[in-house]
Amino acid sequence: MNKFIYRNKKWLYKKYVTERKSFDTISKETGINRSTLAKWTYKLGIPTRNLSESHKGQVPHNYKGFHYNGKYLGRYVNKKKVLIHREVMAEKLGRKLKRGEVVHHINENSTDNRPENLKLCSSPGRHLADEHHKVYGKSV
Ligand SMILES: [Zn+2]
Repeated sequence: MNKFIYRNKKWLYKKYVTERKSFDTISKETGINRSTLAKWTYKLGIPTRNLSESHKGQVPHNYKGFHYNGKYLGRYVNKKKVLIHREVMAEKLGRKLKRGEVVHHINENSTDNRPENLKLCSSPGRHLADEHHKVYGKSV
């Protein structure tokens, strides 16, 4: 195995995001140091899911460059703020999200950005009607 395989974003994404393995598991499998894996996950811009798992929504503002606006997790890419749930959904779909498309958190924990917790809605109206049983524009 390539000694520097952890620098390969596709490989790391597959292990960490698609196969949902923890750094500990990947470390045991490959012998790569846990902190090396964590460092490269961050470096390669792969969203770290243990944010929601370990902090249960209480994420410090400055956690590893992530930033929490009271509801959603984001990070800065080229000085532009990117919301993690939209980024994870785009990765899951293999395309960029269209304007107006909304990503719904199935368990209603807005910091739980695991791919299986995210659902794509075609518009804000559909999102509210289908997922929250509310009428768009009315605060129910
Ligand atoms: Zn929703």
